[in-house]
Amino acid sequence: MVEPLSLEQLIAEFSGLPGIGNKTARRLAYHLLSRPKEQSVRFSESLLRAVNRVKPCKECFAFTEEETCFICKMRSDSKTICVVEKSSDILPFEKSSVYQGLYFVLGGVLSPLDGVGPDALHIPLLIQRIKTGDVQEVILALGSSPEAESTALLIDRLLEQTPVKRSRLARGIPMGSDLEFVDEITMLRAFEGRVLF
Ligand SMILES: [Zn+2]
Repeated sequence: MVEPLSLEQLIAEFSGLPGIGNKTARRLAYHLLSRPKEQSVRFSESLLRAVNRVKPCKECFAFTEEETCFICKMRSDSKTICVVEKSSDILPFEKSSVYQGLYFVLGGVLSPLDGVGPDALHIPLLIQRIKTGDVQEVILALGSSPEAESTALLIDRLLEQTPVKRSRLARGIPMGSDLEFVDEITMLRAFEGRVLF
């Protein structure tokens, strides 16, 4: 099929997104170009606005439009830090209101094959923050993939010499599933049943 170059490029951009194969990428691109132009312009403006405005919080690396995110600003309990892989993993905690402490977004999990070591993540900053603040418990909520497991174990080891309590979410979150899609009840159970290292 011969497609205009700009359309081809749009399809290529879509297929680079997670969970989107070639077929879906083509369908989305054609859809955007078939509907009224102003709708697609609005779509691209939203994307541009979010890309330009949203940045990581300087305290916890969660997405925010300010220097410091809403949670870091408003929460008075700084004794607990819940460590998650990515910003969207905070949502199920907040939706279930099970947790009132602070968060820390690692920015990924260890993946030696892809060249992601401890320094590529925010692990050194996390350790520094825990050691210098008044943190009493660190909850490692990194999911259950082998990479997430070894990341949690590394953080646990780095904190071994500190009096900080380390815990992890109870099992019950299906293997390899994305934390952000966990429903409220499962999250509640996993949180309440959290276990110490
Ligand atoms: Zn923050």
